[in-house]
Amino acid sequence: MPDTVTQTTPRPQSDRAGAGGAATTEHFDVVIVGAGISGIGGAYHLTQQSPDTRFVILEAQESFGGTWITHKYPGIRSDSDLYTFGYRFKPWTSAPIASAAEILTYMNEVIADNDLARHIRYRHKIRSATWSSADNQWTLEATRGDTGETVRISANFLWMCQGYYRHDGGYTPEWPDMAAFKGRIVHPQVWPKDLDYTGKKMIVIGSGATAATLVPAVAEQAAHVTMLQRTPTYFIPARNANVLADTLRELQIDETWIHEIVRRKILFDQATFTRRSFEEPDVVKNELLAGVRAFLGPDYDVDKHFTPSYRPWRQRIAYVPDGDLFRSVRSGKASVVTDDIERFTEKGILLKSGQELEADIIVTATGFHLNVLGDIAFAIDGKPLAFSDSVTYRGMMFTGVPNMAWVFGYFRASWTLRSDLVSDFVCRLLAHMKAKGARRVEVALRPEDGDMKLLPWIDTENFNPGYILRGMHLLPKRGEKPEWQHTQDYWGEKDIFPAIDLDDRAFVYG
Ligand SMILES: Cc1cc2nc3c(=O)[nH]c(=O)nc-3n(C[C@H](O)[C@H](O)[C@H](O)COP(=O)(O)OP(=O)(O)OC[C@H]3O[C@@H](n4cnc5c(N)ncnc54)[C@H](O)[C@@H]3O)c2cc1C
Repeated sequence: MPDTVTQTTPRPQSDRAGAGGAATTEHFDVVIVGAGISGIGGAYHLTQQSPDTRFVILEAQESFGGTWITHKYPGIRSDSDLYTFGYRFKPWTSAPIASAAEILTYMNEVIADNDLARHIRYRHKIRSATWSSADNQWTLEATRGDTGETVRISANFLWMCQGYYRHDGGYTPEWPDMAAFKGRIVHPQVWPKDLDYTGKKMIVIGSGATAATLVPAVAEQAAHVTMLQRTPTYFIPARNANVLADTLRELQIDETWIHEIVRRKILFDQATFTRRSFEEPDVVKNELLAGVRAFLGPDYDVDKHFTPSYRPWRQRIAYVPDGDLFRSVRSGKASVVTDDIERFTEKGILLKSGQELEADIIVTATGFHLNVLGDIAFAIDGKPLAFSDSVTYRGMMFTGVPNMAWVFGYFRASWTLRSDLVSDFVCRLLAHMKAKGARRVEVALRPEDGDMKLLPWIDTENFNPGYILRGMHLLPKRGEKPEWQHTQDYWGEKDIFPAIDLDDRAFVYG
């Protein structure tokens, strides 16, 4: 994998030694934070739409990929289709649900085809970002993972592509007596290379996409694997194939066309599904459960183990390609237990029902730590930024935070759909600033927004994943009007974003 640290036209600005020993400050027009799918996409769009921009991507890890390099647990794969999780500009040519390795290969091609490696600096963990209104620029301090050295970089514009969770470790709740367990406890986000589960009894705690991926992936080799969940989740078992794509390929249609047509079809079907899940939730629920029953047979207690109490689509629904989770359960290699944990024991887990599950290995597929702005200490003119005091403009800019945009994708649709849209917006904003001769742009509530009610970042009636609920107090506020919120609506935003009036009073230039 490429690991080039070549810089683009650096401009040393000062020779002051920083607190951590940084000797010089290099300057760029734009710094992209993170070399995940969003950061690499952002870099591509910059080179295409704003080719004169001097930019660098700073990435804490040793290679690109973000989510797809961080997670190394068995079976790691996408839970949405790659026709829409893939970029708008690069056709996806394989089965819709992809392994992390396939996604990394795809991203590597984007980097190679567009000569992006020279813009990326790996092993650069940004610790602080300070805005100076006197200079109209950000100064970042990053620690190099290889040398421990502090590097200082300044930038006119900060493009936050750092994702939404902490990459160095996952979230594990504290259960009573965890220390009593004699086996090994593992979080999937930090899967140990040496973990040998051959012939071992395993418990996977969790009911989300990670648990659903892990269980069938380890079931063949393990003695037995139990998926232990407090409450069930919806899944969509489906063949890992796209009939339309396969037909178009048989007809020897160009892959660029196939990509576009299949994306439109998937997006259309998803929009219909989302609309129906609001309009006729019971019908949709029954359809989803029928899919599960088809794999598990009439005697399986689908009501208990796979029938959530919430409305479909309030949490992301993962695909179960070829029903592999359900096949493992049907074969007896895996089982599902729906119960609460009373405490850990020497041998495993004691449940509230009194049942004890024995295990050699317990995997806690219990989620993430929300990571707001990359755990970077932000300050504006010397004052620490309280991000939760700001109000978001369309989930990508924030009041009181100049020259900065954040990519926060969709929950219900593929993340990358939004990272492409935000990229177009950022490139347009940068061009607009250049045309106006502006060095600073900030969003601000307009006089007509004076009475607008301010609300938490997300409507938990609409969507309520655990990591958001745990971290809501850290996130910016949204307003009642659509321009002051992340609407989670790709179908609306795909038309609204390109039409945003950059001279609206919400944008204040300087
Ligand atoms: C297991 C798993 C499966 C998923 N599957 C899907 C899916 O199928 N479809 C979907 O739409 N979404 C999925 N998601 C959500 C997924 O995270 C996003 O879709 C997407 O990969 C996020 O890309 P990103 O580039 O925005 O952020 P990330 O992939 O999180 O990458 C952010 C990068 O920024 C770097 N970074 C962060 N802070 C700093 C800092 N201070 N300094 C320097 N670098 C920093 C990180 O090291 C990381 O490499 C999945 C998430 C997980 C965890």
